[in-house]
Amino acid sequence: MERREFLQGVATGALGLAQGSGARIALRFAHLTDVHIDAKKPRSPAGLARALRVVESLAPQPAFILNGGDAIYAALARDREDTAGQWRLWHDVTRAETSLPFVHCIGNHDIWGWQLAGDPGIAARADYGKAWALAELELERPYHAALHAGWKLIVLDSTQPHPAGYIGRLDEPQHEWLAHELHATPADIPVIIVSHIPILSAAAYLWFGAEPTDLQKAIIQRVLVHNDVMRIKDRLAAHPNVKLCLSGHLHMQERIDYLGVTYACSGAVCGNWWNETTPAFQEFGPAIAVVDCHDDGSVTHALIDVA
Ligand SMILES: [Zn+2]
Repeated sequence: MERREFLQGVATGALGLAQGSGARIALRFAHLTDVHIDAKKPRSPAGLARALRVVESLAPQPAFILNGGDAIYAALARDREDTAGQWRLWHDVTRAETSLPFVHCIGNHDIWGWQLAGDPGIAARADYGKAWALAELELERPYHAALHAGWKLIVLDSTQPHPAGYIGRLDEPQHEWLAHELHATPADIPVIIVSHIPILSAAAYLWFGAEPTDLQKAIIQRVLVHNDVMRIKDRLAAHPNVKLCLSGHLHMQERIDYLGVTYACSGAVCGNWWNETTPAFQEFGPAIAVVDCHDDGSVTHALIDVA
């Protein structure tokens, strides 16, 4: 099937579903996660441009693009000049290829310097850690929420510091903020939660792509999923208006229905980190997701190949 026919299929399919239930699309947005743009990855600028052209060709047009995090290749252990170059490239390509607004979620690779152990003074710098990414993405803080066409989008910050690098979880102030945000949202407003690292995932068990060779590998790594999943799923159970939890990070695509919430990982725009010879990570090549929120409170999540 040609991509154009497929895109029409996505639009028609979503509309067909909506018409069947008497509902209409209230909000459409595109979820582009794990772009990992970097001049050292020669396929990355054209790959992001291609993904943005697919977004631009959608009918109806998305209201915004949700950047799911890891917009740049890696800032955790790269120096200042290298990190600045990655952000420059992100801005150059996004400004050239789309005029749609962005909603940003930050990923672990957007964080500057947490793994630059050779530079002891780095932590004192104003742009250390998440500060630099927040400035580039024009965010006041790494977690935020807003209403879009009658739907609430809650964007979380999954990445917390840990002696071994980082860990997937919310910090305490964010747990409190999430509780308050859900409590303050009327029960008839449907909610979508976005995190870079999946809150709940089955694909994380398959991340290594091989039979576990020892007990250690049979355990999901603390960096692959939210370690506070029990606490978050208990919180969501008290708010049945939470419909969908979107994520990226794994570069794998999955949808899980669990206790009334769909947990969807939208793969990666970069597929296998822009690898030249093996463009797919396991079975998953470059992809984006289109999310259609209907006025009856139902939501659809469709993946589109952008290789
Ligand atoms: Zn990530």
